[in-house]
Amino acid sequence: MPLCDVCGLREAKYYQHHTGRKLCGKCLIEDIRERVKKEVDEHSLINGSDRVLLALSGGKDSFVLLDTLSSFVDSNRLIGFSIVEGIPGYNREEYILRLKKYASERGVDLVVKSLKEIFGYSLYEVVSIARDRKKEMSPCTFCGAMRRRGINLAARELGATKTATAHNLDDEVQTLFMNILRGDPDRLIRQHPLAPRLSDLLVPRIKPLRKIYEREITAYAYELGFKFQETECPFIVHEPTLRARIRHWLYMLEKERPGSMLSLLESFDELIIKKISSTKYEKLPLCKICGEPTSIGRDICKLCEMMLDLGIEPKGSFNQTHSS
Ligand SMILES: [Zn+2]
Ligand SMILES: [Zn+2]
Repeated sequence: MPLCDVCGLREAKYYQHHTGRKLCGKCLIEDIRERVKKEVDEHSLINGSDRVLLALSGGKDSFVLLDTLSSFVDSNRLIGFSIVEGIPGYNREEYILRLKKYASERGVDLVVKSLKEIFGYSLYEVVSIARDRKKEMSPCTFCGAMRRRGINLAARELGATKTATAHNLDDEVQTLFMNILRGDPDRLIRQHPLAPRLSDLLVPRIKPLRKIYEREITAYAYELGFKFQETECPFIVHEPTLRARIRHWLYMLEKERPGSMLSLLESFDELIIKKISSTKYEKLPLCKICGEPTSIGRDICKLCEMMLDLGIEPKGSFNQTHSS
């Protein structure tokens, strides 16, 4: 068996395709922690007084987010937060318990909330209402909007100054191309971690894993023996075609030219950061119903609009007394 290219002591277990190195488990973990720390430090994503809410789903990415950040950020400045969507057969007490255990081993508290507690409806109830009323709706769009809102409400309520999500490099580059192909370059800028803060009510969102390949995250999780949620959400009937095609195309490209995804993201980052620094931005208006920020030119936010369309009274609050 070949030895690790970094320490030269232990057996190599992983091939890091974008650098061409063979690594042992320990050096792989160290390499990823260092790259996450570099991403955070380089852009000052976490400053001295920040408290960071980690949005944890229970998937492998969220364990790696928790583990890497707690390796260099003081654990009392991190708060874990997990949303239970309320999907029969998917929301899974054992995963929440495991997540709690992993968090507490790293000195991090975990707050768990259900969509029902925050909005008065579980995702299953929303989908049932839509079905009964014969309304066309995408469960993923609704769930995504409720989760994003829930995370932001939780961050404000729990006194967090940043929220961290576990998006990896593969997710980021797919989203980048989706926005380009849909002709929505503004979205690239708005979703960028260095985007200007367009409302005091929106807690800035950081993505510390955005330069780590998904396959590296899988190896990291495997190496540390994390047991994570692998059940797929039953509402995902099939993947959105565009994302699936982009993913396939990116993998082909990556196979031919290892490191392609990383250079794509870094090149676009450079352009986007230049654009951000040279543009003036308007503050976002507030939704007339819920009072939360909405897009320029709208007076009702997308979430309230979707709820009204289903005949549901829009609501959303985060009451700390329910936290477990
Ligand atoms: Zn090594
Ligand atoms: Zn609203």
